[in-house]
Amino acid sequence: MFSTPNEVEMHVGTLKHVREKPSREELLSHYIHFVLDHDLNINTDEKVTDVAGGIDAGFRVVTDKSEYRATRVLFAIGAMERPKKLGIPGEELSKVHHLFMDPYPYVRKDALVVGGGNSAAEAALFLSEEGARTTMAIWREDWENRDPKAGAMKHWVRTPLEKEVAAGRLRVVLYKHIDEIRERTVTLTTESGDQETIPNDVTFVLVGSDADLTLLKRLGVEFETGKAGELPVYNPETFETNVRGIYVAGHFTHARHIKEAIDVPRRIVPLIARELRADVHEAESLADVPQ
Ligand SMILES: Cc1cc2nc3c(=O)[nH]c(=O)nc-3n(C[C@H](O)[C@H](O)[C@H](O)COP(=O)(O)OP(=O)(O)OC[C@H]3O[C@@H](n4cnc5c(N)ncnc54)[C@H](O)[C@@H]3O)c2cc1C
Repeated sequence: MFSTPNEVEMHVGTLKHVREKPSREELLSHYIHFVLDHDLNINTDEKVTDVAGGIDAGFRVVTDKSEYRATRVLFAIGAMERPKKLGIPGEELSKVHHLFMDPYPYVRKDALVVGGGNSAAEAALFLSEEGARTTMAIWREDWENRDPKAGAMKHWVRTPLEKEVAAGRLRVVLYKHIDEIRERTVTLTTESGDQETIPNDVTFVLVGSDADLTLLKRLGVEFETGKAGELPVYNPETFETNVRGIYVAGHFTHARHIKEAIDVPRRIVPLIARELRADVHEAESLADVPQ
């Protein structure tokens, strides 16, 4: 992880970690044990396919397995559902991946990583360190970007990456575009305009991803376009959208890092609960009024 434990743990001092930064496995184990220890009612492997209705009559939340009724709905759907594509011939081949998991299947294979952010850099680093013959295709502006605010590669990724390059294990190609992916090769155009065909067993296209905003748009939630793409319009205090009763949190909002993805619901869920209690109270007092 890029973050320190205090930024990603559920309660102070509860995340166990071996190194300064927690690993992905340590963090996932921390979250899973939080769910198990508190016996949280979380249904995994269940995709929400539709949310309809409104605050007055309530919302109907339809999933691929079940259906729920809710008076409020908080969307925390992340921003990884739609990986960006290159839109080139061969991108649909089974050896082309838009998500990187493990380097181990690719030992002594010819791997190409396309992209200029931390995900691409980290994938190229891990592949190279674990024995894949790795090429990283990156635009010059990304390779030369040193501004953390403009999404530059984190230095703890760049430093070992540059070591791999210096040791001759990793090749960085400053490229213009990828032309075509074939079963055994990839053809690309370098920044100087030369076309090059390189051997290839596996390709990782890691050029970012977008949230799937279909459900929110169907509900009538408004969006604005910013630097990070389309973002829902919401009240910065309550994170309620323009559709009453529909809330947002996490990666597809302005509060996109894990710390905020934890802090925002921690702040707004009690507000929602308070509002619901007020609704119940109002309904009860109305029921007490003689008709
Ligand atoms: C390689 C990598 C390293 C990162 N390192 C860091 C770091 O060190 N620190 C940091 O702060 N951030 C880091 N990030 C960013 C971090 O992952 C996000 O900020 C964080 O996960 C946001 O949490 P979230 O709950 O909003 O979204 P997510 O963690 O993406 O969770 C959203 C969940 O909603 C589910 N979902 C989506 N649509 C539906 C649907 N229709 N029905 C049911 N479920 C649905 C998804 O499957 C997913 O499980 C990193 C990201 C990457 C890719």
